[in-house]
Amino acid sequence: MEFYLDKSFWGGLITLKILVVGGGAREHAICDAVHQSKNTELYTVMKNKNPGITELSKDFLIEKETNVENVVKYAKEKNIDITIVGPEAPLEVGLVNELQKNGIQACSPTKEAARIETDKEWMRNLLKKYNISGQLKCESFTDTKKAKKFIEDLNGEVAVKPIGLTGGKGVKVAGDHFKNTEEAVQYVKEVINNKIGGHAKVLIEEKAVGEEFTLQAFSDGKTILPLPAVQDHKRLLPNDKGPNTGGMGSYSCENGLLPFLTKTEYEEGAAMLQKIVESLDKEGCRYIGPIYGQFMLTAEGPKIIEINARFGDPEAMNVLPLLDTDFIEICKAMIDGNLSNIKLGMKKKSTVCKYVVPEGYGVKSMVGEKIYVDEDMIRKTGSQLFYASVNKEDDFVTTTSSRSLAVVGISNTLTEAEQICEKALTYVKGDHIFIRHDIGTPDLINKRIENMNRIRGM
Ligand code: AMP
Repeated sequence: MEFYLDKSFWGGLITLKILVVGGGAREHAICDAVHQSKNTELYTVMKNKNPGITELSKDFLIEKETNVENVVKYAKEKNIDITIVGPEAPLEVGLVNELQKNGIQACSPTKEAARIETDKEWMRNLLKKYNISGQLKCESFTDTKKAKKFIEDLNGEVAVKPIGLTGGKGVKVAGDHFKNTEEAVQYVKEVINNKIGGHAKVLIEEKAVGEEFTLQAFSDGKTILPLPAVQDHKRLLPNDKGPNTGGMGSYSCENGLLPFLTKTEYEEGAAMLQKIVESLDKEGCRYIGPIYGQFMLTAEGPKIIEINARFGDPEAMNVLPLLDTDFIEICKAMIDGNLSNIKLGMKKKSTVCKYVVPEGYGVKSMVGEKIYVDEDMIRKTGSQLFYASVNKEDDFVTTTSSRSLAVVGISNTLTEAEQICEKALTYVKGDHIFIRHDIGTPDLINKRIENMNRIRGM
C-alpha cells in the first residue's frame, strides 16, 4: 500500500476515481462534496436509483449496498482509488475490509472499527475500559429477571436498546415509549425473545435528561477535526411527538455551537470523540472516516448516547455544504494519517434541513405518490436539495416507503436559514407529503433553550 502513501500519487494531476456507496440524501450530500472537489470522477452504488446522485455520477450500479462481492467487483472494474461508504449496514458486513484486501482504499472504517456503532455493548465496554467521560450507568442482559432488577434500581428511568443495528428505531425510552417498569420489562422480553437487533440480549441504560446534540468529526485514527454541532429531530410530529424516525430534519448555527450549547460543552464532546478514536487505535482498529457522536447535554454536561461510524442522516447535510476545504483533500488526509496538517475551512453560516416524507411515514407510508420538485427555484432561494428514496419519472418523482428528499436552507442566521428553507419547500408539491415545519423555528428553538435552562436550574 506504499503506493498510496506516496505523496506524489496525490499530486493533483491525476484524476481520482471516487466510489460513494449508498443512495440516500446523506449520500447525495457526500456526492455533491466529491463533485465539487478538484480532479475527481464520481462512481456510485446504491439500491435505489437516487436521481440527484445519478446526475452527478460518471457511472453507477444499482445493487444492494451490502452485496460486498458485487460492490468490490464494480470498484475493481472501475479502478476506484477511494471509496466512501454512507450507511452503516455495509460497514457491518465488512465492505471496507474486502475493498482493502483488493487494494482499494476507503475513507470509512473497517468492520472492527465500526463496532463502535454496530455493537452497543462493545461500545459501552470500550468507554468503561478507557475511562472516557460522558458515560451512563448501563448493563446488558440475556435474563429478563436480572434486567427487571436493574430497571427497578434505576426507578424505571431507563432506555432499553437492542445490541445491534435497528436503523435508529429500536430504542425505547421511559416517559416517551413506556410508562412504567412493567412496560419496560415487556419490551426487554420482546427484544430478547425476538432477537431484535440480531442478539437475544438487551442493553439497559440510565435515562439521560437534557437536550440532544450531534457532533461529527473527521478522523484519521489519531487526530480528529470536529465539525459544527447539529441538532436532529428524531420524532415524527411537531413538538417531538409521535414515533422515532430516521430523522425529520436538523439545524446548525453560524458559530458552530447550538443555542443551548456552550463552547466548553462542545469541546467536552469533541474531547470524548478524540479519546474514543485513540482507544480504538489502542484496540488495534484504527478508525478512518467520519465519526458521529450523539450526546445528551445534561445538568452534569454532555453524556454519550450513541456513536455512529459514519455521517448522520440528516446531519451530513448541515455540515458538508459548509466545507471550504476540498473534501477529497480531507479524505486523502484521513487515509494517509495527515489530518493534523489540514486547516479545516468552514463557511460561518446557519443551516436548517427539513425532510419531505411520504404521508404515513413512520407508520405506513403512501408509496408511489407524485412529488413535483422545481430544482431551479429551490436553488434560487439559496437552499440545497438532496434526494433520498424516490423514483424519478419524467417531470416528477414518486415516493417509496422511506424519506423522499431534503431541503437545506443556508444563511447568515438561523432565523434566515429557516425562512429560506420554508421558501424552498414551497417549490416541492405533492398531495401526500409530510414535513415537520417546526424544525428550526424560533418557537421550537426557544423551547430548547428554556428546557436546558430548566435542567441547569436557571
Ligand atoms: P439511538 O438509536 O441510541 O440513537 O437512540 C434513539 C434515541 O433514543 C436517541 O436519539 C435518544 O433520543 C433516545 N435515547 C437513547 N438512549 C438514551 C438514554 N440513555 N437516555 C435518554 N434518551 C436516550
